[in-house]
Amino acid sequence: MGFGSSFGRYRIAHSKFSLVFSQRSRQDKEKFNAQQVEITFLGTSSGVPTRSRNVSSVAFRLPQQAEVWLFDCGEGTQHQLLRSDLKPSQIRRIFITHLHGDHIFGLMGLIASCGLAGTGQTIDLYGPGGLKDYIDACSRYSYMDIARRITVHRISTGIVYEDDQFCVSCAKLTHRVPAYGYRIVEKDRPGRFQLEQAQALGIPPGPIYGQLKQGKTVTLDDGRTIRGTELCGKPEVGRKWSYCTDTVFCDAAVELAQSVDVLIHEATFAHQDAQMAFDRLHSTSTMAAQVAQLAQVQTLLMTHFSPRYAPGNAIQLEDLLAEAQAIFPNTKLAHDFFTYALERHR
Ligand code: ZN
Repeated sequence: MGFGSSFGRYRIAHSKFSLVFSQRSRQDKEKFNAQQVEITFLGTSSGVPTRSRNVSSVAFRLPQQAEVWLFDCGEGTQHQLLRSDLKPSQIRRIFITHLHGDHIFGLMGLIASCGLAGTGQTIDLYGPGGLKDYIDACSRYSYMDIARRITVHRISTGIVYEDDQFCVSCAKLTHRVPAYGYRIVEKDRPGRFQLEQAQALGIPPGPIYGQLKQGKTVTLDDGRTIRGTELCGKPEVGRKWSYCTDTVFCDAAVELAQSVDVLIHEATFAHQDAQMAFDRLHSTSTMAAQVAQLAQVQTLLMTHFSPRYAPGNAIQLEDLLAEAQAIFPNTKLAHDFFTYALERHR
């Protein structure tokens, strides 16, 4: 095997895998609440759809602001949305990894439908150079007037979006065309406000409490200086997740995934088909697991599987799962409509 050396820290693992399977379906059925970030896979097949798997797209329903962010939008994504309990009208941002068709051919249909729904909702689109030309050409030749509803942002390594709650950054992966992985970080929140303690200090009621709750330092009318941070409990650390596809094993994926709660990583091929992964610049299950291990993530969700491992074939997805779990035990296989809840760190 001559493909190990040029891929940095990726090591070829040997195939003595312990076949430990566990029942994962409970997670699918868990109830979700408004505090959870809810991850829903809308497509988990690479290249072409199969009977049970559509091409790439994953949705994140964000807590509180009732917004859905999509990552990639393969053909048929809007049909998948209609079969899920997500509302297309809540889609506010779409992040595209790269311009291969199985990641973008659903964009125009979805955007057109959102426009016809007449909600007036605008969508911000983020993706590599060429995405705007693609959208402009499609809308021009199909007589769609989307200029007022869509803003296309060209991404490059670094921060691509930031608000009070989240920061989204990206870095270039290693694929046949320019492809970017994403890292999403929720900002830390001040800890729980100790109301009794504030009252005991004789702080008069009013807007001052709001400032203290945010951890600010205020000066009272009587001249005392009160530090909000001292009246708040331990800050709540925000959640982090990362989305890495399409790529062969690369250090950029390890960096994007550093210490995240959830890493979504492609695993197009089984370990024994590693040569194909190197030739086509995709990952094997073992590469995905090694990224998870090196980045010290909590959970690895694998997706973007080649249709060659569909039921009935010699190698099946359970084999890819076993290969990955031999390296990184907390690995799960995504399937279409698989939903995973990301809880707050309290
Ligand atoms: Zn691709």
